[in-house]
Amino acid sequence: MNRRVEAGASSVVITPAKPVYLAGLDRRSTGCELSQGVHDDLYAKCLLLRVGDTQLGFLSLDLIGIFYDDVEEFRRLAFEAGLESEGVIVSSTHQHSGPDTLGLWGPEPTVSGVDSEYMRFLKKRMVDVLYEASRNLKPARLKLSRTRMPNGVARNSRDPNLLDDEITVLSVEDLKGSNIAVLANFGLHPEVLWSDNNLITADFPCYMYRRVESETKGLCIFINGALGGMVTPSVKEHSFKEAERIGSTIGEAILKSLDEAESLEEAELKVLSEKVHLPVKNEKFKDLSRLGVIRRQLKNGLAETRLTVASLKNVSFVTVPGEPLPKVGLDIKSFMPGKFKFLIALGNDELGYIIHPEDWADGRYEESMSIGPETAPILIERIKHIINHM
Ligand SMILES: [Zn+2]
Repeated sequence: MNRRVEAGASSVVITPAKPVYLAGLDRRSTGCELSQGVHDDLYAKCLLLRVGDTQLGFLSLDLIGIFYDDVEEFRRLAFEAGLESEGVIVSSTHQHSGPDTLGLWGPEPTVSGVDSEYMRFLKKRMVDVLYEASRNLKPARLKLSRTRMPNGVARNSRDPNLLDDEITVLSVEDLKGSNIAVLANFGLHPEVLWSDNNLITADFPCYMYRRVESETKGLCIFINGALGGMVTPSVKEHSFKEAERIGSTIGEAILKSLDEAESLEEAELKVLSEKVHLPVKNEKFKDLSRLGVIRRQLKNGLAETRLTVASLKNVSFVTVPGEPLPKVGLDIKSFMPGKFKFLIALGNDELGYIIHPEDWADGRYEESMSIGPETAPILIERIKHIINHM
């Protein structure tokens, strides 16, 4: 059996060409609902790994999030273009100064802020980046490392003593030693810039990309982790200067971790993807779905979504279809196999906060932005089940 690893990466710009409703924060009160310019470009980035006939891919978007329905439409378009998207995990960095791709931040609470023309453009670009990454596939060497988030970059504003500060890094190079990509996974809301900002920006990841890419000459990809309720940047002010400090500091830690990375050239790759149905108990979510403000279909009160689990020697990957709080993330990591664990938040979907049943408290902000208290226990059970059957 062929166990040689191949890899390919690519990135495309997905910055909106015209003003859009900005997502992530209440800007109706600051008059900054519509974007007034671009500070830095937004990207769709893709890293594909292939061993024999098995493919695992990461397609990361500098966006607030996209729903399963849109991810499934991207898969249909990819299929029509002759591309395999099974095993490709779509995730968003969850930046808070980009186009509304979910619908929650329109001119009024009952009017969607999504620009359907932009969504068509986005899905086309997602197919483009997958195509380019697959064309770039070549024999590769994987390098794995871990580090901790440096002091002074992250805090949990809901539960100050609880943080998963692990950064897990997958670095990929060709057999001549040229870097192809560095994929970094950790949980932190890209919301240094706040509701008074009306310029499009990837937020702190922009500076992390620049730091890592200038050093390695490969592509830097960010996959968010247990960022929920509420792991937020530790900043003195909501400024680009602070975004630069946070992004560069984390970028530096990632680069340093590469010095002690473990190499991997041959391995068996296993990827399992499974549909799961989650009960939606949040009345506001149901109303917005019914009104078409959010483009997320429910069937009999259930939200269909997809989990992807993958393993490669001592490395494992698990998607979560929203924003897990640190306790949920740590719980899942505790039974993920291997030494290097990638917990992929906003994986193939964005169903809001995913709260551990021990911490559920009716009426709090994170609970109001969650589909219900059963989400975490159901997901944890399903993920355990998939891992046990790999
Ligand atoms: Zn969030």
